[in-house]
Amino acid sequence: MGENESAGGGGPERSVRRRALLVGGAAAVAGAAVLGHDALSRLRWKLPGARRPRAAGAVDFGSARWVGASPANYREADRPDDYPIDRVVVHVTQGSFTSAVKAFQDPGHGAAAHYIVRRDGRVTQMIRELDVAFHAGNRAWNERSVGVEHEGFVDDASSFTDAMYAASARLTAQICRRYGIPVDRKHIVGHVEVPGTDHTDPGPHWDWIRYLRLVRAVPPDSPTPSPSGSGAPSGSGGATGPGEGRQAP
Ligand SMILES: [Zn+2]
Repeated sequence: MGENESAGGGGPERSVRRRALLVGGAAAVAGAAVLGHDALSRLRWKLPGARRPRAAGAVDFGSARWVGASPANYREADRPDDYPIDRVVVHVTQGSFTSAVKAFQDPGHGAAAHYIVRRDGRVTQMIRELDVAFHAGNRAWNERSVGVEHEGFVDDASSFTDAMYAASARLTAQICRRYGIPVDRKHIVGHVEVPGTDHTDPGPHWDWIRYLRLVRAVPPDSPTPSPSGSGAPSGSGGATGPGEGRQAP
């Protein structure tokens, strides 16, 4: 909350904080020793020449459909090289799929997630995993995570269909394999668990035990996604602007 892109773009304090989050408080001092490298990485991705080309319409998850979010609702990055990815954040849209897509395409909304899973199990990708989506309401957590929205309402148990659980589990399983994220409740979390958030999703009807069981059961040979970071550049900007502190539903 209250962290945005105009706030200085990541000083040493933030780097230490991020490292402390990643490796634990005891290693915070050790983290200071690698600030030079951290700062260099940060500078490198800001150079135009270092920007990885984006393939128009390419998705990170094989069966996803691409519908691009407004560049105002994310920040271009080069993850996991500049920011390691070690969390998946589960969200609920608090509205229809269509209204969520519309919101994420609205530059005034200031927030969006990487994916939306519909009730019928269709997966739509709106932001590349390379990039930092403004979904968690917490800058460090935006940088370290992939955000997955689910169509529905936290108070309506019927929102969460079998097809949705199955599709979302396949998506999360692939994300976890891609970045070496352990499949457990420390690394696959609800928006409600992100530090500083006032959101409650996915709510009491989201079945975490079932979800993790499904994620673990996804066979390793499920379709390999094509990486989004290749091919022609999309030409979108989006490296500046407020919104890092805003939250997707
Ligand atoms: Zn949320």
